Amino acid sequence: MAYVSYNPWTGKTMGTFPEMEDREIEEILTSASEAFKLWRNVTVLRRCELLITLAGHLKNRRKELAEIMATEMGKPVSQGLAEADKCALLCNWYAENAAAMLQPDRRPSSARESYICYEPQGIILGIMPWNFPFWQVFRFIVPALTGGNAALLKHASNVPRCAMAIEELVTASGYPEGLFRVLFPTHEQVSSLISSPLLRGVSLTGSNSAGSSIAAAAGKNLKKVVMELGGSDPFIVFPDASLEKAVEAAVVSRFQNCGQSCIAAKRLIIHADIFEDFRERLKQKVVTLKVGDPLDIATDIGPMVNVRAAEELERQLDLTLKAGAKLLCGGRDLASGPAVFLPAVVDQVSVSAPLACEEVFGPVAPLFRFISVSEAVKMANNTLFGLGASVWTSDERLALDVAGQIDTGTVAINGFVKSEPGLPFGGVKDSGYGRELGVEGIHEFLNIKTISIF
Ligand code: NAP
Repeated sequence: MAYVSYNPWTGKTMGTFPEMEDREIEEILTSASEAFKLWRNVTVLRRCELLITLAGHLKNRRKELAEIMATEMGKPVSQGLAEADKCALLCNWYAENAAAMLQPDRRPSSARESYICYEPQGIILGIMPWNFPFWQVFRFIVPALTGGNAALLKHASNVPRCAMAIEELVTASGYPEGLFRVLFPTHEQVSSLISSPLLRGVSLTGSNSAGSSIAAAAGKNLKKVVMELGGSDPFIVFPDASLEKAVEAAVVSRFQNCGQSCIAAKRLIIHADIFEDFRERLKQKVVTLKVGDPLDIATDIGPMVNVRAAEELERQLDLTLKAGAKLLCGGRDLASGPAVFLPAVVDQVSVSAPLACEEVFGPVAPLFRFISVSEAVKMANNTLFGLGASVWTSDERLALDVAGQIDTGTVAINGFVKSEPGLPFGGVKDSGYGRELGVEGIHEFLNIKTISIF
């Protein structure tokens, strides 16, 4: 199976990249290891200068990058431009803050003096998904390289042109040759790569099945991992919330990127007193979303990533409807293309139906009704996942109380869940472990070394 760039809107194949031979992967690994030996001694100041150059390249090439995303995985260009800008923001944020985060840190101890220093360890492998094909990779490579490590990327097999564009951006920014490279390996080659003593850690963002097989390979070889996996985020609205703002946020959170986001509001849990009002306002907004060619700047919703994803979403929706739910709008639109799915709103969803229990990775918003606070919390936690949650109320004490009871890595109050450079991001339960971004993200793959002078 090669790495194939396929346009889900036109159905055309845009390029095929063969899988690499073992020998080529070994050469890349060896040259990353050589580059690391020099890079680890490069000053943080210099590493941050390169980040600023990288941010500049992202800004200059934003249009081209957005078009690659649009034609390779269907992201509307308006959202691709925002993704490129967010990657630049990330580079600039670490450029500004990395020196402080990597500074030795004094600690009280029984010794005359004790401190912690943050040292790089070697090569880190990033295994990344297609849904935010730049942002997911940047939030892996920026802290990894800035902390002094080398990085290799195994991107999803359907976004090889995004992967190559990222390698070009890094090279053009002046990073040492070999320090960051893209690989096109098979899954078996990934497992043997993880067993190499040159590789010191693995960061995976993807599905739970990928997480469990990569975590098993890493565990067998005693390699540290960060796991950023799936989610089924609750979006809870109390009666005293600003309905207008909550509905607007629900639409963005659930439907941006054609609903293919780990932190999308995947279960809308609405208080009975405002349920009908919320449902009607939501439906009114959803039917106005513009579905179409992702290269058109006015498009809100492009095609899903591929036909298989549209079929899987259709299966989840059909089974949920068979279990008694009611479709208010949207659904698969074969007339517009085999990967096109119109944004859908679904009412009367049973708690045991796929739209309630499985990760729904597409533009479908299921509605649930609650009466008491404890019921809302119970529904929110009634999932294997624990990535994010959103709570809407004008009563901040209530919001904080609910936030404290929800088992997720992030809670957004009167806002929707999003990642940003300075805040740690990650999940609990089946959504994974470890953190990306912020100070926690840069420390994940560093040797937190304690030095004591007695
Ligand atoms: P996926 O199918 O699990 O793929 C993710 C990456 O893992 C790809 O590069 C894939 O490569 C690789 N992979 C899968 N199985 C592997 C194996 N056995 N050995 C080596 N590599 C393997 O996920 P996806 O469809 O791309 O992304 C969607 C999932 O990612 C959703 O569940 C979403 O919630 C999750 N996600 C989580 C976060 C987060 O931050 N928590 C962010 C974004 C997405 P191939 O393409 O070659 O299979």
